[in-house]
Amino acid sequence: MKWRGCRPNDDAFANARAANLRRSRDRPALQECAYSGVANADAQFQLEQFLAARFREFCEALNQPVLASGLRIAPPLAFDEAEYFLLGLDEHLFELDRYGRAESPLIRQRPGESLRAEAVGQLFACDPPRLLRESITQLATAAILVLQRGWQRRQIAMHAINDESGAANYGVEIVVLSMSGDLFAGVELKRTAPELTKLARDLAQCGRRGRHSFAECGFPQNHAKYEFCITCKPRYLWSVAPGAQICFELEYLDGGRLELQELATLPARSMIELSAHRG
Ligand SMILES: [Zn+2]
Repeated sequence: MKWRGCRPNDDAFANARAANLRRSRDRPALQECAYSGVANADAQFQLEQFLAARFREFCEALNQPVLASGLRIAPPLAFDEAEYFLLGLDEHLFELDRYGRAESPLIRQRPGESLRAEAVGQLFACDPPRLLRESITQLATAAILVLQRGWQRRQIAMHAINDESGAANYGVEIVVLSMSGDLFAGVELKRTAPELTKLARDLAQCGRRGRHSFAECGFPQNHAKYEFCITCKPRYLWSVAPGAQICFELEYLDGGRLELQELATLPARSMIELSAHRG
């Protein structure tokens, strides 16, 4: 894990983190980002500025020069993504230390995940210093689930990004749980809208075919999501990229076959609980 290699020392790290968390508690600029307060185009600009400042701080902490070109954010921040990232900070869903690492009660480890889980909520990487773009999407999406869709904090769990180890670690970056701990939905993050389209196509192919192994599959990029679904049986799979999303309601048939019904988005908690009540 690269992070360990570029961390100066544990004492400095702990002190810096404590100082930063103190600072992050009275962050006047971000208080202006209350949900009802700003148009999300402003939030996009504000988050760019915020990330650029945090990136400079990260580079300084590691004694690395900041590139003249500054922080590269690709793909660009989507409006909603920026708005909810800032709201997540405002609402203390997560806090960032000077190394750009998020601390959050929503970040949870599963058995066997201890090493990879360190990567959860990490905004920057070194060699060379750069933004880990999917972390923004992950934190913003978790904030959307809580602040817009009404899920309780203890129903959301963020896991390691790009974890392709399969169902043992869920194999998705966020899960939504019922109050009794059952899996409601898996949330899979992608970088671009075309990747969402590919996920839909691949998952439909794997689902039509029924049970098969990774080695037998012609869709290696997304086969782990099929495995995740037939093993953990979430009712919904929601995939999110900056500015784009796709959601499936899943039905499980014999022989590992899967039927997908495409929805506009993941329903809000109130809608799901209402339908469960009626059903
Ligand atoms: Zn497959």
